[in-house]
Amino acid sequence: MVTKTVDSYHFDKLEETIAKLNEEDCTIIAGGTDVMVLHKSRRGVAPKIAGPVVFIDHLSELKQTYLAEGNLHIGACCTYGEMLEHSLIPSVFKKAIREVAAPAIRNRGTIGGNICNASPAGDMLPLLYIFNAKLVLRSFLGDRIVEIHDFIQGPRRIARQQNELLVEVILPDVVDEESTYLVFEKIANRQADAISKVSFAGLLQVKDGKVADARFAFGAVGPTMVRSLEIEKKLLAKGYPLRAEVLEEVVADFSSVINPIDDQRSTAYYRETVALKLLRYFLTSKELS
Ligand SMILES: Cc1cc2nc3c(=O)[nH]c(=O)nc-3n(C[C@H](O)[C@H](O)[C@H](O)COP(=O)(O)OP(=O)(O)OC[C@H]3O[C@@H](n4cnc5c(N)ncnc54)[C@H](O)[C@@H]3O)c2cc1C
Repeated sequence: MVTKTVDSYHFDKLEETIAKLNEEDCTIIAGGTDVMVLHKSRRGVAPKIAGPVVFIDHLSELKQTYLAEGNLHIGACCTYGEMLEHSLIPSVFKKAIREVAAPAIRNRGTIGGNICNASPAGDMLPLLYIFNAKLVLRSFLGDRIVEIHDFIQGPRRIARQQNELLVEVILPDVVDEESTYLVFEKIANRQADAISKVSFAGLLQVKDGKVADARFAFGAVGPTMVRSLEIEKKLLAKGYPLRAEVLEEVVADFSSVINPIDDQRSTAYYRETVALKLLRYFLTSKELS
């Protein structure tokens, strides 16, 4: 049997990588934990990737995490393992990371890969949505900044041009974790090493007995993360604890915007039931009362 080979590139510099992407349509490989599964062949046979591949996870420019003007910048090729160790990564992200896969995958998988894979069950995504993450896409023309909800368009569908590389994730206006109630919940068959049936991220700030900020996003209950600014807005300035009718209205509104499906991991009915229970649990948090 003849095995077809593909060209593979591994440049020392980010600029060379960007220049190659401008010349050729390459499959980008960061940790490869999604790419290799997507293109897997039968046991013992190399994965089938049609065109050339370019490796990026060794590029130091894509591994920096730093604060600038109050915003947290996370390099696209930071692995879960590296983020767990980094003092600037918010603890709620670390909680989510501890529930991603198992240590071997956490040492390969990257935040950029999770975003660009655009799975409805990607575990970083609900948090990135509520943190209003912005993505820096670099091409030979320069940088373009896109909001995460504009970038992710559907399962495995992203608004990336062929010559662009995701270089950085920006979390604007870093949230003060001391004064903010932040939650990440993942519902899966096991506590780790299992793909989410439903995932949830929530952020709530209460000042002088009133809701000052409320954000929540769900994974795996629609083709992309489900977040509704309109519903969140209805909670602003409401007294906390919420009155029963306010809570019921928000839950009812939210049930009309989610659109879960049956698949090998769960049923639409289970997903909807759990999602709405998570929302109630979050909005009636004892910690804030
Ligand atoms: C056993 C196993 C368990 C897993 N468990 C979980 C889990 O619990 N939760 C979860 O969310 N995921 C899980 N995953 C999925 C995967 O590990 C994550 O999505 C991971 O973050 C992908 O990162 P990566 O660097 O390996 O991506 P890659 O596989 O390298 O790339 C993924 C996609 O993104 C593109 N890409 C990567 N980086 C860039 C970039 N910088 N710019 C442009 N495009 C880019 C690639 O071309 C590809 O299309 C699991 C995977 C495996 C194999």
